[in-house]
Amino acid sequence: MLCPEREENMARILSGKETASFINKRTSDTVRRLKERGIVPTLHILRVGENPADLSYERSAEKKCRGMEMEVEKTVFPEDVSGEAVLKKIRQLNEDKHVNGVLLFRPLPENLDADKIVNTLDPSKDVDSMTNLSLAGVFAGKKLGFPPCTAQACMEILNYYGIDCRGKKAVVVGRSLIVGKPVSMLLLGQDATVTVCHSRTVDLPSITRCADILIAAVGRAGMIGAEHVSEGQIVLDVGINSKPGGGICGDVDFEAVSPIAGFITPVPGGVGAVTTSVLLSHVARAAERHNGLE
Ligand code: NAP
Repeated sequence: MLCPEREENMARILSGKETASFINKRTSDTVRRLKERGIVPTLHILRVGENPADLSYERSAEKKCRGMEMEVEKTVFPEDVSGEAVLKKIRQLNEDKHVNGVLLFRPLPENLDADKIVNTLDPSKDVDSMTNLSLAGVFAGKKLGFPPCTAQACMEILNYYGIDCRGKKAVVVGRSLIVGKPVSMLLLGQDATVTVCHSRTVDLPSITRCADILIAAVGRAGMIGAEHVSEGQIVLDVGINSKPGGGICGDVDFEAVSPIAGFITPVPGGVGAVTTSVLLSHVARAAERHNGLE
């Protein structure tokens, strides 16, 4: 897809929904090919507790899986589950040949040893890059697993709109292991020149204004304002923040930034809309790999 024209006085919307449809089509083709061989890609969702954000993501993943004729199963543990019970389940899933991907919601309750639990998972089933091996692959630029779905979702949007990262200055605000750091590595892998900012960064606006591509992954509603952007920039808003009256908003102040930026992802309908599609594409690819087809 060619990069769209900027509309007068408004940034062009980079649509997560359109990007997701494109990915879903690709995944459906893979699922169909697997079905012809009697293989149904299967995702197992493992949830501890009843976090509303997890439940919402889970519903979306289940709906999309079924829509694509993929199998979805789940295990739900109470908040006070023992670490041994979670580890036992993960070992079972590792052995279960028909399970291709496991999604474990994090953060886990504090009484659980998250590091041990996460790294017990077979990396070949780690469809959201939780294990150290998958993350090592992202940082080494090698296919040791799958990149984190949200970080990959940012790259899919850039790719769908034909935005070439090579030689561009990319600034990522946020350095979490789930979004900021991996997306920085993926951008670097696409030959962007990357700067990573965080809460101790001095004079953030002077850095973000120099970006060609600005990625906000902070978790603070509307924090990126007009002073942080410059004309024509490509702005990807990863933030998902609850609004006091209901609904969600991003880390970018959309009203203030869209008259300045060249391209922008909305919230909702931006990066978040692509994340579950990336997850399912990883499950389908894991099924191919498990069956020696990739
Ligand atoms: P996180 O772990 O809380 O990390 C936030 C990062 O922002 C940290 O690196 C922090 O810096 C930095 N930060 C905080 N305040 C800052 C400030 N004033 N100036 C500059 N940097 C600042 O959050 P996360 O898990 O990466 O998530 C980030 C956002 O993405 C959240 O809104 C989350 O809901 C959203 N999210 C969306 C999806 C999706 O599918 N779209 C998926 C996952 C997350 P320090 O490291 O110095 O503390």
